[in-house]
Amino acid sequence: MLLSVYAYGQPVLKKMGQPITAAYPKLEKLIADMWETMYHANGVGLAAPQIGKAIRLFVVDTVQMMEEGREAEGIKMTFINAEKVEESGEEWPYEEGCLSIPDVRGDVERPANIRLRWVDENFEEQEATFTGLNARVIQHEYDHTDGILFTEYLKPIKKRLIKRKLENIKKGKVSADYRMKFV
Ligand code: ZN
Repeated sequence: MLLSVYAYGQPVLKKMGQPITAAYPKLEKLIADMWETMYHANGVGLAAPQIGKAIRLFVVDTVQMMEEGREAEGIKMTFINAEKVEESGEEWPYEEGCLSIPDVRGDVERPANIRLRWVDENFEEQEATFTGLNARVIQHEYDHTDGILFTEYLKPIKKRLIKRKLENIKKGKVSADYRMKFV
């Protein structure tokens, strides 16, 4: 089932996500719906606050971002209760966007690597280090579960440039190819 993507300005996007247990109601269905919603919107990641739930859950599929022949370097994974163990490596800029903030893109600097601890969709404990685009998308989605949006990292001049756009999104004055829920 397609879910509505909560738009910039929705308070849930600024909330600290809470950890969940395996007893979380209809979790399997929720995760399936998040995948469906993400693919429908041509996203590479989606975090639970973006569908209105302030919980520590996100899904990532970077396989679709990898060059032909290098798909194996991508990941398709569900992250529950993720905790950042460490970020390392040099910061590098990458132009990010967000399904909750249509038509806004901007360069964000983030460390090259991230080590995470989490449980997967079967509540099996996992720990791994991610690099490159995998790290990038995970960092962006992980931030959502902490109530942080990529626009908060943009340089002051860029922030000024997108101010009007953000105000318009808050008012619902934006169009997207997927269903959104505005304030
Ligand atoms: Zn996002």
